[in-house]
Amino acid sequence: MSSKTESVEQRASELRKQLDFHNHRYYVLDDPEVSDAEYDALINELRDIESEHPELLTPDSPTQRVGAQPLEKFKEVPHLQPMLSLANARNEDELRAWETRIYNLLKKQGVEDARIEYEAEPKIDGLAISLVYEDGVFVRGATRGNGEVGEDVTQNLRTIKAIPLRVEGAPPLLEVRGEVYLPRSAFAKLNEDRAAAGEPTFANPRNSAAGSIRQLDPKLAASRPLSMWCYGVGVVDGMTFETQSQTLEWLAEHGFKVSPDVAVYDDVDSLAAGCRAWEERRESLDFEIDGVVVKVNDLELQRSLGVVGREPRGAIAWKFPPMTATTKLNRVAWNVGRTGHMIPFAMLEPVQVSGVTVKLATLHNEEDLRRKDVRDGDEVIVMRAGDVIPQVVSPTAKAQKRKNRAAPPGPPERCPACDTPTVKPEEGVWTICPNRAGCPGQVLQHVKHFVGAMDIDGFGEETAIRFLREGIIKDAADIYELDEERIVQLDGFGEISARNLLANIEASKQQPFFRVLYALGIPGIGWVNARNLAAQFGSMDALLEANEEQIVETDGIGPEKAKVLIEEFEDERNRELIERLRGLGLQMEQEGGPIPGTEGPLAGKTFVITGTLPNLSREDATQRLEEAGAKVTNSVSKKTDYLVLGADPGSKLAKAEKAGTEIIDEDGLLALLG
Ligand code: NAD
Repeated sequence: MSSKTESVEQRASELRKQLDFHNHRYYVLDDPEVSDAEYDALINELRDIESEHPELLTPDSPTQRVGAQPLEKFKEVPHLQPMLSLANARNEDELRAWETRIYNLLKKQGVEDARIEYEAEPKIDGLAISLVYEDGVFVRGATRGNGEVGEDVTQNLRTIKAIPLRVEGAPPLLEVRGEVYLPRSAFAKLNEDRAAAGEPTFANPRNSAAGSIRQLDPKLAASRPLSMWCYGVGVVDGMTFETQSQTLEWLAEHGFKVSPDVAVYDDVDSLAAGCRAWEERRESLDFEIDGVVVKVNDLELQRSLGVVGREPRGAIAWKFPPMTATTKLNRVAWNVGRTGHMIPFAMLEPVQVSGVTVKLATLHNEEDLRRKDVRDGDEVIVMRAGDVIPQVVSPTAKAQKRKNRAAPPGPPERCPACDTPTVKPEEGVWTICPNRAGCPGQVLQHVKHFVGAMDIDGFGEETAIRFLREGIIKDAADIYELDEERIVQLDGFGEISARNLLANIEASKQQPFFRVLYALGIPGIGWVNARNLAAQFGSMDALLEANEEQIVETDGIGPEKAKVLIEEFEDERNRELIERLRGLGLQMEQEGGPIPGTEGPLAGKTFVITGTLPNLSREDATQRLEEAGAKVTNSVSKKTDYLVLGADPGSKLAKAEKAGTEIIDEDGLLALLG
């Protein structure tokens, strides 16, 4: 063996070791240490070596295997059919090369005149899951694991509302596959709540979904608004699907959540345009996608193309550029949070992350900073995910090995907002500014959170800063005592804008009780926990009187959160605020009213949306309908109550007309939503 091959061999073995390590962190611990881009660079290097030196390819190479061994704490489930990975195309040339490979292969198989149709759908960045139904009943759900054997996570999956537990008209054996994910907005809130409670934050929505499913307490999974997009079937007994698009239509009609924007193309030009269109929409979606999956639509053809290594030949993932980047952390600086704790953030060497320049990124809290061990001068990985504030994920592996690293940054000795000396309460995990009501930084953060939680239109951060600076409000309750004359005196406000703002403030008094509870900004009581508490106790008075034992009965609330809640309720300032808000007319009772997503004015109604609506995006319309308790499906069936009609509708209109479904436009929809 030449010395060149020898060093290539060494490199391949080194890469395998590193990739095994990262696979373990990513797939087993749900806690990656490097960004996907760094991981992809390593695996691509190994792939290149193995294709140039096929003699170096080993059967256990990470290029040949999917995922990692299942965790022992779960029962192992052998998959009825292996769960594979996907080959990648990073650009149009690679997509064309894939097409050429397919045509060449078909020619070899003696098929001369093939005309391939391609189906394209979003590549959801979640956790791959297989659902097994026997005689229409959901009996077992498993993670992908190592592709052959997965982990039995049935109990956790049962808590996900998007997964039907019973499927009318299903064949005797049906395996449905898809990705469990956490919506981006929920991910941001979850991380905020975890940071506020001193728990480690998740690096990205994928890890948060995986972490929620791969733990033993179904209550925890139930407390997180997980969902599942389904993208295909595995083993099916007693029924045949001919095309991928037909499969998805069937799944949608039978209660599974399927992307409503799946398209079929008959040439690569229009397919590539379709993929680029997804890339443009990427950030407007409320779920993470890291690419588009392109599949040969004809399933028989797909099967005949076979599998190479761990990748079926009949499908490919068009991958988007990563939402992460590497840059230098110049300095860790500090802010004060709404409950007084010191919040670290990173001042970065400006860097482009998927088209946006990022200079500042959050580090969540002292604990997170310590855990991530980032230091001034480190090279760090920064992640952006839509409207989620950019965050520092970790130092790079290189930075961790650097000699002469700066000392770990500590919290400031004086509050950055009011210069009061900071303190670290004996039992507390955080350093805080004790000047609570007198600290302008804390008051601003609280007012900002409050107006966001109460959804007061036209009252953004700028307005909060101005009103506080001008002294016309001193806390959140003062918002409800603002008077028009005083606002009109401010530059930029006229009579009309002042009146509109006051009308919006007045309207917010009708926001349901759970929002008021969330608006109080109690550590650990984010959106979901506030909803759960409101549903459990029904009123502020019942909650104020509850003891720890009763509070921990609530989904998602453990003893620590319950303790904090009780302490906060014992605090005179909070009591006063609650009583003032009550006196001002805010809702302090749930009145058996709707909790979004579980009940609502449109509970039990099924909607289908077709075409482009004049104002609402599909996602907005769907979210609002779901919040009102309605179900939104992809295709018209006998069960559809309303078809919402936009411009350029598809074949769904004809179907709805035939089925006699009520057809409404956007105005009609808004009227129903109230
Ligand atoms: P993949 O995620 O790139 O693609 C295959 C998977 O896509 C399928 O298994 C399926 O679960 C999923 N998928 C999503 N939408 C789909 C759809 N509509 N149709 C079909 N499948 C769909 O491949 P992989 O092997 O699961 O994982 C590789 C990815 O994980 C890479 O992005 C890599 O960067 C990342 N990774 C990162 C680390 C790390 O340490 N950062 C470690 C390991 C893997």
